[in-house]
Amino acid sequence: MKIHALTTGAVRVKHSFLYARRGPRRQLDLFLPGAWSDALPIHCWAIEHDGVLRLVDTGETAAARDVPFARMEVEREQELPSAMAAAGLRLDDVSEVILTHAHGDHMDGLVHVRGRVLVNEAELRFIASPMGRVTRRLLRQPLPPGFAPEPFALDDGPFGAFPRSRVISDDGRIVVVDTRGHTPGHVSVICVDDSGHHVLLAGDATDSLEQLRALRADAVAPDPKAHVATMRTILAHCARHPTVYLPSHDPESGDRLAESVADQEPVTPSRD
Ligand SMILES: [Zn+2]
Repeated sequence: MKIHALTTGAVRVKHSFLYARRGPRRQLDLFLPGAWSDALPIHCWAIEHDGVLRLVDTGETAAARDVPFARMEVEREQELPSAMAAAGLRLDDVSEVILTHAHGDHMDGLVHVRGRVLVNEAELRFIASPMGRVTRRLLRQPLPPGFAPEPFALDDGPFGAFPRSRVISDDGRIVVVDTRGHTPGHVSVICVDDSGHHVLLAGDATDSLEQLRALRADAVAPDPKAHVATMRTILAHCARHPTVYLPSHDPESGDRLAESVADQEPVTPSRD
């Protein structure tokens, strides 16, 4: 199995996005003036396994609009085709895409892909709901043209600490797990690598390893309690299995993946 970190440009987000307060200011602060982060990567991932090339998310495109709390920095030559080529991969070889969730910086790159697209049925229900529709219109974040994914259910039982999962590869080494919180149907993808480590392609389950350890809900999660419960499940999983935790926007995810071939420390909750 070979996992590639692909980078499709960068995004800057408000400080109030990364370090959300509790209570009513959690979401309000997103729309008020505030400090901005450094540029964070917009990663997606390619998995070569058993002669099949899969993508987890497809990154952002240059056509993306900014929102009040996120500024996209994506040039055309940073979109998925160039990111794939930089990794020595061909877009035509992609047979399957798994979306962690239906936010533009994870799915807008679908315009470049022809393979089947898999999305958790709970996420599809959310984006079809009045709340999902209104949010997309207000933030001017339309679905990608021709968006027609295949829904899947997380009905393959527990996987490690995760109560609900979906097995993707025939040999069971690529598994989707329920990481609801950031969005109601958010999923992450666990790849059991050749040394038995679990490489957890986290999507936006958290923005960083730091946020996971701090058990800090983000500013956009509809239900912050559900978000924190998912973080506890991830940490419980990391305590059971040596796990490489790779959020899409963590500046250290690329290095962590590169180092995972060597000796990778399992993630444990911080004690402070
Ligand atoms: Zn997101």
